[in-house]
Amino acid sequence: MSIATAVPHAAETQATRGLVEITKVRKSFGATEVLKGITLTVEPGGVAVIVGPSGSGKSTLLRTINHLEKVDGGHISIDGTLVGYQVRGQRLHELREKDILKQRTEIGMVFQNFNLFPHFTALENVAEAPVVAQGRSKAEARRRGLELLDRVGLKDRADAYPRQLSGGQQQRVAIARALALDPKILLFDEPTSALDPELVNEVLDVIRELAKSGTTLVIVTHEMGFARDVADTVVFMDQGQIVEQGSPQQIFTSPQEPRTRSFFSKVT
Ligand code: ADP
Ligand code: MG
Repeated sequence: MSIATAVPHAAETQATRGLVEITKVRKSFGATEVLKGITLTVEPGGVAVIVGPSGSGKSTLLRTINHLEKVDGGHISIDGTLVGYQVRGQRLHELREKDILKQRTEIGMVFQNFNLFPHFTALENVAEAPVVAQGRSKAEARRRGLELLDRVGLKDRADAYPRQLSGGQQQRVAIARALALDPKILLFDEPTSALDPELVNEVLDVIRELAKSGTTLVIVTHEMGFARDVADTVVFMDQGQIVEQGSPQQIFTSPQEPRTRSFFSKVT
């Protein structure tokens, strides 16, 4: 990868106002370019919902924000700090793995399949990272973990193992775990897609509450009613590009692009 392609122009960085600034991001897997120049800003406390067909690059985009994927071009900054790079003098240096891990603690991510540690209780799942990644005391991490489990409605299941919890409960534990590091932003990748229909709402309600409380969120979902409720901005992606973006009202009521209209006519 050419580092030069990731060097932001001074004018671009000075114009930075969003909490998340994604600028002309490109990403290929082999010969296939799956992100073809994505530019997106999420304001502090804002909620961006990304929708689009399978394979359009939604997960890859989320993963670049978290530096789980390196970009091939463009750059991303979170709260004014470049993801994956450090500016020293006039030059850009790739962060070392240790610093990438540290940077990642500022970004919470919730996946489709919960990804809880199976041999840890709910509370241990939530309290582990603050001890390991942030050097908090075990007692403090447990106290805060219980608070967070309470916030997602699971204080009474603190000692349950993931296999003893429903999918909806596991996903709520995963959300509490993501919150435990006090991230600047939370990323959700289809958080309800693996759930039985009757369990979807208990998870969406927790995310709604986070949205109301001013947490900055980027959410990939196929739940269009929910998107309409919580989004400040709805982003429609297709084939590695943002085809259209706007308020829920604009995008759902009067989409301008044929591809957006065609997508919504299939999903709603
Ligand atoms: P979405 O989340 O919108 O369904 P993805 O970001 O998962 O889309 O995938 C976009 C495209 O990139 C797809 O064609 C997918 O097959 C491809 N892709 C994703 N991850 C990889 C990978 N690690 N290696 C190769 N191809 C990948
Ligand atoms: Mg995906």
